[in-house]
Amino acid sequence: MAEQKKQGICYLVGAGPGDPGLMTLRGKECIELADVVVYDYLSNPDFLQWARPDAELIYAGKKSKNHAIPQGGINQLLVEKAKQGKIVTRLKGGDPLVFGRGGEEAGELVEAGIKFEFVPGISSTIAGPAYAGIPVTHRDHCSQLTIFTGHEDPTKEESSIDYQQIANAPGTKVMLMGVERLPIITQSLIDSGADPDTPMALVRWATTGQQKTITGTIKTIADIAKKTNFKAPAVAVIGGVVGCRETLNWFEDRPLRGKRVVVTRTRKQSSKLSRQLRELGADVLEMPTIRIMRSDDDDYREFAKMVIEAHTYEWLIFTSPNAVEYFFDAFYKAREDAREIGGCRIAAVGPGTKAKLAEYHMGVDMMPDIHVAEELAAKFESDVSVENTTMLWVRAKDARDVLSSRLIEAGAILDEGIAYQTVPETEDPTGSRKRFENEGADIITFTSASTVECFLDLGLEMPAGIKIASIGPITSQAILDEELELAIEAKSHDIPGLVEAVLELAKE
Ligand code: SAH
Repeated sequence: MAEQKKQGICYLVGAGPGDPGLMTLRGKECIELADVVVYDYLSNPDFLQWARPDAELIYAGKKSKNHAIPQGGINQLLVEKAKQGKIVTRLKGGDPLVFGRGGEEAGELVEAGIKFEFVPGISSTIAGPAYAGIPVTHRDHCSQLTIFTGHEDPTKEESSIDYQQIANAPGTKVMLMGVERLPIITQSLIDSGADPDTPMALVRWATTGQQKTITGTIKTIADIAKKTNFKAPAVAVIGGVVGCRETLNWFEDRPLRGKRVVVTRTRKQSSKLSRQLRELGADVLEMPTIRIMRSDDDDYREFAKMVIEAHTYEWLIFTSPNAVEYFFDAFYKAREDAREIGGCRIAAVGPGTKAKLAEYHMGVDMMPDIHVAEELAAKFESDVSVENTTMLWVRAKDARDVLSSRLIEAGAILDEGIAYQTVPETEDPTGSRKRFENEGADIITFTSASTVECFLDLGLEMPAGIKIASIGPITSQAILDEELELAIEAKSHDIPGLVEAVLELAKE
């Protein structure tokens, strides 16, 4: 049978207004499926991390006036790639069909005989006001919502925006793309009969850690924008609902608001720290400097043999959540039955490792109060008779040897299984390093000595005034060894402790 040619498809996906939590599940799926991802200026670049490593990522622009690829070229590109049988995901800020040209792109795809799907997104027209504490409709204020664009093709001779109609429409009005022409637009509305004292707000980079809102009236807002140097992209809201912000402003009073915080740990491990920081209002820049991978073949083979013999040890020792994952991955490759782990006892260095063990339904028999290897060694020395006790320590290739040397000193029969290693992260699909250099950051977090070392290997310029937060003493030492200035060390050497430290820095 002749091989059937794979049929291409184009997903026109709304990427939401910026907050990663506002992407739809279907949208995420389309990014994961894609052979080609075409994204623009307003779609959050962090979503690109969901793309397959071999997917082609194409930036299509655009800031107004500064298009990376002109619209005709984008349409052509989508058609061309899909014609090659590829799955193309076109990411657009907000909703693809709300001033997003999704309709035009779909039209061209249909004309070229290419299948497409619309995946709606959360539009900035609704989400922007919501994150500024402004409900676009409210029974006390209005029963109508008008959405219009403040931007038009500048070559048009006559304005197609009927200001008369907008000025006289009841209810809330939401305008996109109007910041650059704000004085002309607000004057046109007043000239067309709008009440100059109608409340008006502008929300910039809504739903992100950089969100900023100004409020005034139709008459005053253009001046306020000028004085505060308020720039696009912004959503404008006009109407009585703007007043609700006084009581409903839920997003902007959070402690890390407006602070850009860099997370350098592995992409896989970033999410917990990033989420906590985002919930506190930070603009999180995930810039992974390291990646965890299996140890080299020889080490791994040795480790796998020890795992098969796990039931022969009296103690299993885990000093990181990664170690737990690698251990059970190897264990269940060799064993069918959880009971085959035998009667060994389990030691964990800290709560993160303990929590990871709990995911595998494993309890912990020993954990030190301070979560470093020295304290774990001390606890063994004081709490159990270590002499002639068989132990398996599941470790990283580059782990410090303080634990093993002290346990061996105390007479333990210790095997060390090298399960994984830390290597520099070479990929940067989200362009985070460029953003770090171009836009700077307020605080950078380090969660291990290797994140510090690999960060320095990247040779990036430290932005002026940036403050360094460390998770614990070993990481701090690496920072000081590199002659960097340490601003704070977490009191509790875990993620909640580090978040506390960042909060502390933000107060300064
Ligand atoms: N399809 C998009 C709108 C695209 S037009 C949507 O549904 O949201 C581009 C305009 O959208 C910008 O000029 C700005 O007015 C607005 N916009 C998009 N994202 C925004 C954001 N996060 N904050 C403020 N305005 C935004």
